[in-house]
Amino acid sequence: MAVLITGIGELTTNDAELGKLRDAAVVIDGEEVAWVGAAADAPDADERIDVEGRAVLPGWVDSHTHLVFAGDRTAEFEARMAGKAYSAGGIAVTVDATRSASDEQLAANLRRHVGEAARQGTTCLETKTGYGLNVEDEARSARIAADVADEVTFLGAHLVPPGADAESYVDLVCGDMLDAVAPLVRWADVFCETGAFDEAQSGRVLKAARERGLGLRVHGNQLGEGPGVRLAVELGAASVDHCTYLSEADVEALAASDTVATLLPACDLSTRQPLAPARRLLDAGATVALASNANPGSSYTTSMAFCVATAVLQMRMTIDEAVWAATAGGARALRRDDVGFVRPGARADLHVLEAPSTAHLAYRPGVPLTAAVWRRGKRLTSGFVSKW
Ligand SMILES: [Zn+2]
Repeated sequence: MAVLITGIGELTTNDAELGKLRDAAVVIDGEEVAWVGAAADAPDADERIDVEGRAVLPGWVDSHTHLVFAGDRTAEFEARMAGKAYSAGGIAVTVDATRSASDEQLAANLRRHVGEAARQGTTCLETKTGYGLNVEDEARSARIAADVADEVTFLGAHLVPPGADAESYVDLVCGDMLDAVAPLVRWADVFCETGAFDEAQSGRVLKAARERGLGLRVHGNQLGEGPGVRLAVELGAASVDHCTYLSEADVEALAASDTVATLLPACDLSTRQPLAPARRLLDAGATVALASNANPGSSYTTSMAFCVATAVLQMRMTIDEAVWAATAGGARALRRDDVGFVRPGARADLHVLEAPSTAHLAYRPGVPLTAAVWRRGKRLTSGFVSKW
């Protein structure tokens, strides 16, 4: 059945030829966009919906979340806001709670957060393992994630479990753990940071994952300058995420590569770090994505609109740069071209704003501006999330 969405005041397509359209219309047929153009030229369809001048853009592509978890870290957050420093070690609290939770509890928690994201316009979401940190719980996390998320990443190398020897744990990650998880995921990731995994350990994990045919992602340069960005570029990772502290060599390496710099402004704020240097990256020619990093420790938000507003107001990205980074940029970081765009053949993932233009995402920060969401051609309803 074809649905015509017309009366679009401003349509962000992210397509180089179509650009940004005024007085536009979109036809959805099944799960895909079938037609895009001027409202006056729109073809007939089975159903017609007039959005009365509202802005429409692609659904958010949130390319970095950690939503297979249980437990709560409010106390750690309160302590941090009272002046205690953030360190990678807090992850261990979530690991204990996640291992103790049933499959049903983990799946329900994941669906609840994905539903929360979808109601705010997120239509494509990556999530990671990384709170199991043993073969059984990492494989279980990957299975639960694969049931719900668009993209699943193996992050067994999130933290050395308390009491374990780092080298022996890396052996386990590169061996039995990857064997168990690789068939369930598309990506592998490593937390290359002081307090987590060093350059040699990170390199071992990434190479072992690549040998099994997985795509690579890296958590790097979050808490200080380090080897994460360099390693990600050298190994051809699709994305290196955080990029809060970058040397000039890091910026130049990213600009000369296909590796996307995925910035996580909600995490920088929640850990009271400086915001990542978006302007330096963009001015050098690097590809920038924005993602939520939704997780219970360092960034407990699913709001991509908050990330976009922060990127514009505080990181000096333009409205168009920030919206692109949170849609097509996320898609690039996931090596996809079926999402993040509104053009014929793209997945019918549409986000209608309660506003006449995307500028309002930063002009009216904190205001819930999501008026309607389509994912795979289906309009979000209260029952939508159970189908994810
Ligand atoms: Zn992360």
